[in-house]
Amino acid sequence: MKKITLNKKTKIISTIILFVVIIAIVVFLCLTGLKKEETPLSSYKMELSYDNTTHTISGSEEITFVNNYDNMFTYLYLHLYPNAFREGASASVVSSAEEENAYPNGISYGSIEVQSVTSDGESIDFNVEGEDQNILRVELPSEVYPDESITFTINFITTLANINHRLGYGENTINLGNFYPIICMYESGVGFKTDLYHSNGDPFYSECADYDVTISYPSNYMLASSGQLMEASTENNITTSTMTGEKIRDFCMVLSENFSHTSSKVGNTIINYYGYNGDTNLDTCLQVCEDALATFNELFGEYPYSQLSIVKSNFVHGGMEYPNLVLISDEVASDDLAYVIVHEIAHQWWYGVVGNDENNHAWMDEGLAEYSTLLFFENNSSYGQDSETMIDNALQSYKTFVRVYTNVTGSVDTSMDRALSAFNTEPEYVQCTYTKGLLLFDAIRETVGDRKFFKALEDYYQDFSFKNATPADMIASFNHSTGYDLEGFIMSWLEGDVVVQ
Ligand SMILES: [Zn+2]
Repeated sequence: MKKITLNKKTKIISTIILFVVIIAIVVFLCLTGLKKEETPLSSYKMELSYDNTTHTISGSEEITFVNNYDNMFTYLYLHLYPNAFREGASASVVSSAEEENAYPNGISYGSIEVQSVTSDGESIDFNVEGEDQNILRVELPSEVYPDESITFTINFITTLANINHRLGYGENTINLGNFYPIICMYESGVGFKTDLYHSNGDPFYSECADYDVTISYPSNYMLASSGQLMEASTENNITTSTMTGEKIRDFCMVLSENFSHTSSKVGNTIINYYGYNGDTNLDTCLQVCEDALATFNELFGEYPYSQLSIVKSNFVHGGMEYPNLVLISDEVASDDLAYVIVHEIAHQWWYGVVGNDENNHAWMDEGLAEYSTLLFFENNSSYGQDSETMIDNALQSYKTFVRVYTNVTGSVDTSMDRALSAFNTEPEYVQCTYTKGLLLFDAIRETVGDRKFFKALEDYYQDFSFKNATPADMIASFNHSTGYDLEGFIMSWLEGDVVVQ
């Protein structure tokens, strides 16, 4: 009986152990099965050379398109931004007021020529179309269903204009922004976004992708880029450098014979500052970059990339943001230099990591970059900029714009959420996007209070990292983080109903 009891006990214990082991195996399998694999991104692999006698950059671009959408694709659209610089282009690359500054040696033109498109060594059909030959349509050799990918190679040659712009060569720098074909954004229910280039704003919109770029150039040039340098070699006075960049939404390079370089590290990020030979303010500029990165790491969340380059250049506007690289115009007055550097670094969070459609919702990244710049000065009092005064100045500037435009034209459009082409003048674009953007984010902060406002910025950064957010996404994110329903409030600002006073 005792024995029987023991046998029974043994059986019960064995059953329990078996049960526990089975449960453990099931839980393990579920966890490993459910563990989300990181979605692969599309990639761009380029082999390029820069010719400083013809001012051309040419070579091959192998694109692997990963279909992370719900649709099946038989063709793709890509932007050909360099064709905005063509003679006769309807898109102007600078406003008439800026022409003299932009073209130091008279009007000059550039372009991009697509020489071939191949897949697996076979030619595939392509067509250059769009109002300004600004779009490349590539017929895919086979249908690409969701989660599938396809690889094709474009051979192209881009000719630079002699212009102080994102793309062009000037006295000191060769700026290689938007020089290559890049896949147009695809929006479900809308299709490919093929907006034309525009002189207002930064007319770009793209998905994050992985980059592997090799470029050869005369060895008397120094190269700054969006990527991390993997290797470099020099032969017969030609240097060949290979860079990689992961999860970045564009790739920019700048070449110069006149660079002077210094660097430091903040958190996990190496900061490279490129000034010109003979500059005496390299350390001061580098310090601004360090302070900006440290402040924004703290306020919004850690910068996820291992390097950031701040590059002085021939550029007609104050500055320009690219992933891991910003251009700072060599014409920025020394008193404004810190402001411009901080604004462009803020874009690494708002545009770089969290993307948005800069063609149609420029207020999202420009407004946040402006307000982030204000936050920088609020948190770094040694720079001597008082945030209250900055808000007051923005308010006065905006009110003057409204008053003058109302007097001159009889009415003024103060709506913010417009396409770049829908702004009638550059001041209207700047006031409605930058200045009113700054005032909008300050008004949200006033409404919800500091704690909820900063939580909302952190959450927005976290939730939309490496993605693109729409205005509705931003509003929903802010509502969720703050517990307020801000939709009506924000929409009244965007639609121009609020009288700012
Ligand atoms: Zn900006």
